[in-house]
Amino acid sequence: MHRHDTSMEVLTQAVVRYAIDRVRLDPPPLDSPRTMAELRAMAGHTVTPKGVGGLEALRVFGDVLAPACISTDHPRFLSFVPAAPTEASVLFDLVVGASSIYAGSWMEGGGAVFAENEALRWIADLAGLPPEAGGAFVSGGTAGNLSALIAARWKWRYDADGAHDRTRGLMLTSAGAHSSIKQAARAMDADVILVPADAAGRMRHDALRSAVAELDDTDRERLFAIIATSGTTNAGVIDDLSGAADVCAELGVWFHVDGAYGGAALAAPSVRDRFIGIERADSFIVDPHKWLFAPFDSCALLYRDPRIAKAAHTQHAEYLDVLHADEDWNPSDYAHHLSRRARGLPLWFSLATYGTDAYRDAVETTLEVAHAGARLISASGFCELVIEPELSIVIFRRVGWTPDQYQAWSDEQLRSGHSFVVPTSWAGETVLRYCVVNPNTTVDDIASILESLR
Ligand SMILES: *Cc1c(COP(=O)(O)O)cnc(C)c1O
Repeated sequence: MHRHDTSMEVLTQAVVRYAIDRVRLDPPPLDSPRTMAELRAMAGHTVTPKGVGGLEALRVFGDVLAPACISTDHPRFLSFVPAAPTEASVLFDLVVGASSIYAGSWMEGGGAVFAENEALRWIADLAGLPPEAGGAFVSGGTAGNLSALIAARWKWRYDADGAHDRTRGLMLTSAGAHSSIKQAARAMDADVILVPADAAGRMRHDALRSAVAELDDTDRERLFAIIATSGTTNAGVIDDLSGAADVCAELGVWFHVDGAYGGAALAAPSVRDRFIGIERADSFIVDPHKWLFAPFDSCALLYRDPRIAKAAHTQHAEYLDVLHADEDWNPSDYAHHLSRRARGLPLWFSLATYGTDAYRDAVETTLEVAHAGARLISASGFCELVIEPELSIVIFRRVGWTPDQYQAWSDEQLRSGHSFVVPTSWAGETVLRYCVVNPNTTVDDIASILESLR
């Protein structure tokens, strides 16, 4: 199994060829989901005592399994948050896989960690975090938020000198925050209070202040973090970050900014001023697999003072302590993980390949296309905007449609292979939403989707 003989050479060529052909597809087919029963009938049994052989398994993948996965990088995949990894980042993902790097610690993975930290530094600079800021790449925003909030709670308990070691913690965030914040609270056995958002879905300074004022003394003592969202997942709205930073500073509580989707727009000068206040965050996340053109899975997690994260997250074990002897930068110390893939390397390689100006331009392109699409909606006469878009997510209604009509239209778009745009809800109403993170998505793509809504 571990030998490179002639049949393995044939398989090598076939696998690499498959990967290269997939990267070159422009655009890839949209594809569509299949049921378990359909896949069982089409794929048969592939895990057998003798094996079906690599070429046959690759055929099953290419003919049956891959087409049963919607291509998130299709330019008219506009649901949820799509993906748009650059060619360089995808190709380098192959290299990372081939390189067997353990990137949990500097000792084994120093070269990879060095390069990952270069990419983290670029993001920290975009956010205006201080030179000593740092962190690690984790699997996604869910893992990033949890890890940051564990560090926040550690700090709160440490500062209380034992008084809160058995106190259940409390966090404040906006009603528009991502579900992963509530999930982190569940995992940490902490509570969350949701601050009501304004009509556009933004957490404002005054609402946050009122929520704090309504806390009784016990809850005020329990409060260890305020979480603002810089680009809500449903509407792309940025909370008042300066206002939240002010409240955190006054109360002495941790300020976490969830920019899993929207943080990428820090690279876009046209919207950079909407993020003012982010430079005061104690921790910040952004998912390069969303809007920074990296493949799954990748979340950049940054701390203003990484020493706090290290105290909260470092795992001590007899076999690990050799790694903590000096001041080496061990990514495993900065999140809820230990073994890890060097998942920041595809972003690093792509940044090194194209340069950061290309990132700025690509994010600006997606913003322009999303906003041009919004203008088409306003001018259509049969669709209207629900709120003015702030980033690259647009929420709109097809005037007069029922939830069933939206769903039937969406199903037909996917069935025909034209687009993937699913309904969402806004203030209880079923509406449509698109999210542009792919620089290959054009205004014509959006126009053709709108035309089908006529
Ligand atoms: C997508 C998203 C998350 C979760 O990120 P995953 O990478 O899917 O775990 C968290 N917060 C926000 C604002 C998001 O958009």
